[in-house]
Amino acid sequence: MAKLAKNPLRFFATFMPCYCKLMKADIAYVQEKFREFNRLMFGGKLPEPPMTITNAKTYFGVCAFRKHRKWNGRLEYSDFKIRISRRFDLLQEEIDDTIIHEMIHYWIGLFSPADMPGHSPLFRKMMKEINQRFDRNIRVSHRLSAEQLEQTIDNRPKKHVVARVMLKDGRIGIKVIPCMERHIRRYQRGMMASGKVSSIEFFQTTDPFFNRFPSSSAFTVYFPDPDVLAEHL
Ligand SMILES: [Zn+2]
Repeated sequence: MAKLAKNPLRFFATFMPCYCKLMKADIAYVQEKFREFNRLMFGGKLPEPPMTITNAKTYFGVCAFRKHRKWNGRLEYSDFKIRISRRFDLLQEEIDDTIIHEMIHYWIGLFSPADMPGHSPLFRKMMKEINQRFDRNIRVSHRLSAEQLEQTIDNRPKKHVVARVMLKDGRIGIKVIPCMERHIRRYQRGMMASGKVSSIEFFQTTDPFFNRFPSSSAFTVYFPDPDVLAEHL
């Protein structure tokens, strides 16, 4: 799997210059590229697997399979499927690198199952060889740019209750709470009992800006940029 780096917020990345053309994968593109890279890099040996486009936000691409144990105890892999996410605007090269990354997993699953799963030494060796020979930049994991991170956020309007929490030290924070009276009451009671809060106001909103905050009645407060917050409250 071309996984996303664990804490993408730390890596407001710089690898995506703004003059480059961004695109989203579609199925015809992925199939065409699979065929091209199969000929070019894998000697045409990979039978074409089912390929699908998903809307996943946890990966750029994934090579799914089934695993079974043979009579001799060894693992065998089958039913390979390649899935590419169209959630993110990527550079064409990034989409191509993702497809090749998944094709390496697929090759290993078919022809060298002992080197499955994950990014084994064989995976890294093949990745390095392809990178050098074809001037590519395939990696084990991807880091998201700020724009891509934004695209992991669900932008559909949902009904939220937002608590605007004034702290005694002067800071103003928010907390998103499920639209249920008992959650709202619980949050208010707990926060006021903490001794740090001077007042709490509650708003109802469907602004997708608030989708990025966890919705619960946990006694926590988030402090978004005050100017940004002012636009949304
Ligand atoms: Zn991988």
